[in-house]
Amino acid sequence: RKGSVIITGASSGLGLATAKALAETGKWHIIMACRDFLKAERAAKSAGMSKENYTIMHLDLASLDSVRQFVDSYKRSGRPLDVLVCNAAVYQPTAREPSFTAEGFELSVGTNHLGHFLLSRLLLDDLKESDYPSKRLIIVGSITGNTNTLAGNVPPKANLGDLRGLAGGLNGLNSSTMIDGGHFDGAKAYKDSKVCNMLTMQEFHRRFHEATGITFASLYPGCIATTGLFREHITLFRILFPLFQKYITKGFVSEEESGKRLAQVVSDPSLTKSGVYWSWNKDSASFENQLSPEASDQEKARKIWELSEKLVGLA
Ligand code: NDP
Repeated sequence: RKGSVIITGASSGLGLATAKALAETGKWHIIMACRDFLKAERAAKSAGMSKENYTIMHLDLASLDSVRQFVDSYKRSGRPLDVLVCNAAVYQPTAREPSFTAEGFELSVGTNHLGHFLLSRLLLDDLKESDYPSKRLIIVGSITGNTNTLAGNVPPKANLGDLRGLAGGLNGLNSSTMIDGGHFDGAKAYKDSKVCNMLTMQEFHRRFHEATGITFASLYPGCIATTGLFREHITLFRILFPLFQKYITKGFVSEEESGKRLAQVVSDPSLTKSGVYWSWNKDSASFENQLSPEASDQEKARKIWELSEKLVGLA
């Protein structure tokens, strides 16, 4: 049978390129979990994906009710779940004021981390039950949260501090909107959320890999400087950034290439190792990358797991 893979945020950028790459193999049915149905349908069409290879299902990660409804509909569909890809993200580098999810969490951490945390917890049993040869849970990470790299050291740097803002609910009322308890900074909130993504993947690995056989992985797909992620940045940045990445840092990858990379993490029989953060060298060969001290801090991973469970109503 075909493999079934859910990809969140498959309506643009990396998610769409991955869906396209997998659809082209003819071996996968892709469930595009998206907040904007029409946009997703148009995206799939313009990528040339044929109807029998994908299904669009509604998911708004900025609402925990929507996450629960998505999971219910998926379970009722009777489809097996072989791979889950947590890819969607928001990035608000120029926002002066925070925005919030339906439950009142700061939007970047609420969407990128908490929404995906609940989604993957609720779908873990389905992955467990899959009889697919290699079942996987992939959470897209980034280098920006990784302070042991050049790009990860561009200020504002990711820093989760003692998690006091997360413990307080990130709501701007009786707590800070930032995980470390500091003042709102949209670029930092995004980087913090990516550190949470990478820590969550490792905590999943520690808790569930041995018992379930599921492969847990994260990756840095390269700098895909042309995606919608930068839509809120000023125009000059959006013109110069891809050029800077192409000619100066040489970290630039096309959407198509990044999609092939993530598709590899989904389906390549040689990438079954669990607990790994994949990256690619300049010849586009995959290797196991090192994470920054904070992004591999086991104690912090455990605390984030427990606090997140409370915030999303699992504990
Ligand atoms: P895009 O903005 O192109 O794609 C993000 C996707 O997330 C869109 O499909 C968007 O939906 C979706 N999304 C946003 N909010 C929600 C929500 N509340 N519910 C459901 N879906 C939502 O960015 P990229 O493709 O660049 O980003 C994809 C991943 O790659 C992210 O995890 C990002 O952190 C990571 N990444 C990107 C890098 C880059 O250089 N671009 C580098 C490293 C990592 P919609 O289409 O409706 O807006």
